[in-house]
Amino acid sequence: MWTIKALNVATLTLTRVASISKVAIAANPGEILKVPDIAWLLTCEETGKHILVDAGPSEDPLRDSQYHSPVEKTSEQQLDYVLKKEGVQPESIDTVLLTHLHWDHGYGIYKLPNAKVYVQRDELQYAVAPFTVHKGAYELNDTSKPPYFFKFFHQIKVVDGDTKFCEGINLIKLPGHSPGSQGILVQTRKGRYLITGDLYYNMDNYREDLPTGVYTSLYDYYASYDKVKSLGKDVTLLCGHDYNAFDILKNS
Ligand SMILES: [Zn+2]
Repeated sequence: MWTIKALNVATLTLTRVASISKVAIAANPGEILKVPDIAWLLTCEETGKHILVDAGPSEDPLRDSQYHSPVEKTSEQQLDYVLKKEGVQPESIDTVLLTHLHWDHGYGIYKLPNAKVYVQRDELQYAVAPFTVHKGAYELNDTSKPPYFFKFFHQIKVVDGDTKFCEGINLIKLPGHSPGSQGILVQTRKGRYLITGDLYYNMDNYREDLPTGVYTSLYDYYASYDKVKSLGKDVTLLCGHDYNAFDILKNS
């Protein structure tokens, strides 16, 4: 059995158009939202092993804010700080499961030099040659330098589709937000949880049945929504940028 701890590693500022598809005018697309950037610490109760799901943005919020939407990141939100606060040395993390390769989920890997980093093959393939509209998310706009994920390219291991990663952890391929997005299904003593990545920024996407404003295929997106529902009503969703995740895990 595993436990899940949500680590608040940054605060992002989005307009609601990025949170809910702009086709939904009623969703008030100009609203400004402050949302958390979350890394998830999984701990095996039997062995004490730790696995990290996502790693947050870079350590420099000014740099990130130049390339992306505004980012706030205090010294208490630095990945190495939050891990040590949980009693975990960053160097001891040997496994990271990335929901996808967007900058706000993968950049923090550089703090984890000994980790193997598991991503879907379709995600890695798309990340090296995305359409122009998605280049910023992988930091490929500036062609004078390699994209950020080349810093940990040698650590990457690819997986293909739905995969039983280990006892109690399954990787569920959920394309739509990006071609190789994956959710992480985790068995805990309190039941099953799905770390959704950005398939859902928050439960509004679920309740309103509306994708985020960042998508590579709406056909894939809605097929992934159906796939999540098919996992069963007992599965609790932990969304990619939702403060409620902290309460859900605290109260679980
Ligand atoms: Zn994100």
